Amino acid sequence: MAKNIPYGRQSIDDGDIAAVVQALKSDYLTTGPKVGEFEASLSKYVGATHAIAVNTGTAALDIAVGALQLPEGSEIITTPFTFVASANCCLYNGCRPVFADIDAKAYNLDPDAVKKKITKKTKAIIYVDYAGQPCKIDELKEIADSHGLKLIEDAAHALGAEYKGKRVGSFADITCFSFHPVKHITTGEGGAATTENAELAGRMRMLRNHGIDKTPSERATYEYDMKMLGRNYRITDFQCALGISQLSRIAGNLKRREEIAKLYGKLLSGMPITLPYVSPDVRHAWHLYTILLDGKISRDRVFEGMRKRGIGVNVHYIPSYKFSYYQKLGYGKSECKVTEDVYARILTLPMYHSLKDDEVATVAKALKESIKEAR
Ligand SMILES: *Cc1c(COP(=O)(O)O)cnc(C)c1O
Repeated sequence: MAKNIPYGRQSIDDGDIAAVVQALKSDYLTTGPKVGEFEASLSKYVGATHAIAVNTGTAALDIAVGALQLPEGSEIITTPFTFVASANCCLYNGCRPVFADIDAKAYNLDPDAVKKKITKKTKAIIYVDYAGQPCKIDELKEIADSHGLKLIEDAAHALGAEYKGKRVGSFADITCFSFHPVKHITTGEGGAATTENAELAGRMRMLRNHGIDKTPSERATYEYDMKMLGRNYRITDFQCALGISQLSRIAGNLKRREEIAKLYGKLLSGMPITLPYVSPDVRHAWHLYTILLDGKISRDRVFEGMRKRGIGVNVHYIPSYKFSYYQKLGYGKSECKVTEDVYARILTLPMYHSLKDDEVATVAKALKESIKEAR
């Protein structure tokens, strides 16, 4: 086996490097003009009015929940089949995440399961566009509207994804993105929240900067006020310079991911697995390419077989309620039935912009062999 193939990786070109160097040589390393420029390009791309760039996707989720100003002890319904940050942001803000089950096809929050979890304390829903496939947003919106709930879209997987012909970024009250290196575009670490609501945008800007109402450039004198308990979630100018450059190449990145998904579909057909389902309502952004192994095959043995062959397969995700921290908070070990079944059988194959066709073929061959060994 030549070099290892990871499950995801960034793609950095000479233009990215030049943009970062230029920012490093400028007068501003942080809170300078590149932050606003990046926010403007991002909001334009996703079709949102306001964008607030921060230093991680997790920070974006934290300020999103914080901006809703929910009463202590509020319940927020979310999916367990995601990265832990989607639920942790509730706990940061004194709210309790309530896990609702996913649907067996797209692995996204099942609107019927959400309905069953609504109580008097429920104040919001955080839905995650798993793997880059937007949720049943219209159904979730209808539930939110009829129960007076706020909606946060964790679109960490879904930059560039579309729902019913419109790009993700303005469907929910707040949409959150991540620019971690495995995501579609990267700023090293980074994230952003977008919204149509000026009040929410203002609060998120304050929460990013200690809860202070003015940045230094907005101050006429030394005076400023701290209005909320915020954090320092600021992102640097050189990261935003990278983000602007990366975002300018997003179309090619999405197109390549679509090609890879198609090629996997062709090469993996006939194997004892279920290929990813794509709803006719969406343009899938293909952050992840996951397969579901048939019941009799041990996922863990296939995982080992793939890793042995230098293929960086992964499992997305261990259901959040299973972690010892959540167990100590009193969550059940197997709260959600569909999630449990999918978790036991799912495997993430490599998917990233620079993955070559022959590497996709190598992955497919390794999968065939690993499944044979695992039977
Ligand atoms: C990556 C990710 C996050 C967090 O993003 P960071 O930038 O790593 O903090 C949140 N939610 C989901 C679903 C993610 O995949």
